[in-house]
Amino acid sequence: MGQTQAGLIEELRARGMRMTPQRAIIFETINQLEGHITAEEIFAQVQKVNAYISLATVYRTLELLQEFDLITPTNLGDSQTCFALKEHCCHHHLVCLQCGNIEEFSDDLFDLVRSRLEDEHGFQVRTDHMSLFGVCKACRGE
Ligand SMILES: [Zn+2]
Ligand SMILES: [Zn+2]
Repeated sequence: MGQTQAGLIEELRARGMRMTPQRAIIFETINQLEGHITAEEIFAQVQKVNAYISLATVYRTLELLQEFDLITPTNLGDSQTCFALKEHCCHHHLVCLQCGNIEEFSDDLFDLVRSRLEDEHGFQVRTDHMSLFGVCKACRGE
């Protein structure tokens, strides 16, 4: 599914991102992981490939990838921001505040909310990648 990594790097170049070797390594790391990853986790991985890449470079590259709309952040409740590739969206998360369990749910659940907010408030909501916090089925004893 989606584009190959070379395709994405080409696209980034075509859209004007300067593709340095360090950025390519960081991007490859994010691309390989497929799920969600924090900046610190990316940093730990890229350090194995190139020990000269700093955490600051990882953060700057993540900001760039967000500007290019290729990754989306979400907060899964451990106060760390997780990133996922946009092509793995759109989904959202249900995060249990008691046991920490995380479930995904599909974006179409927000269709009604989005259309009503647009109709009634003229407001266009961005629901790229959200986390909703609450209590899961198991913790509720159901
Ligand atoms: Zn997600
Ligand atoms: Zn739970």
